[in-house]
Amino acid sequence: MKYVSPVKRDTELRLVDIKLNEGVETIQMSVIKVTVECSRCKCRTDLLCKENKVASQVCSKCSHWISVQYNPDLLHSSNPTLAYLDLLNCKVTDLILLCYEGVSYLVSSVGVIIH
Ligand SMILES: [Zn+2]
Repeated sequence: MKYVSPVKRDTELRLVDIKLNEGVETIQMSVIKVTVECSRCKCRTDLLCKENKVASQVCSKCSHWISVQYNPDLLHSSNPTLAYLDLLNCKVTDLILLCYEGVSYLVSSVGVIIH
């Protein structure tokens, strides 16, 4: 199966200093959890995002509609990009790594790059 990289988006989630275990070449996360900040009231909330799906929710403070579409990229030693995100009415402030098998080889800091 040929892998097609997602189209580059405005917001890129990039892992800094990735360390892959021996035998592990690529990682693609099907689910991630991000902390987003409402663009209107700056209230923060956590959203669980599934691969190529839109996660949306109403801000608990100001009722502004916020959403994140998660477009995973294939992570490997020369590609630190975890995903590209389409954001509506919010910005990502943090990535919460969930407990995945193999998450230990992803230990690093996360940078959110806004193009
Ligand atoms: Zn809000």
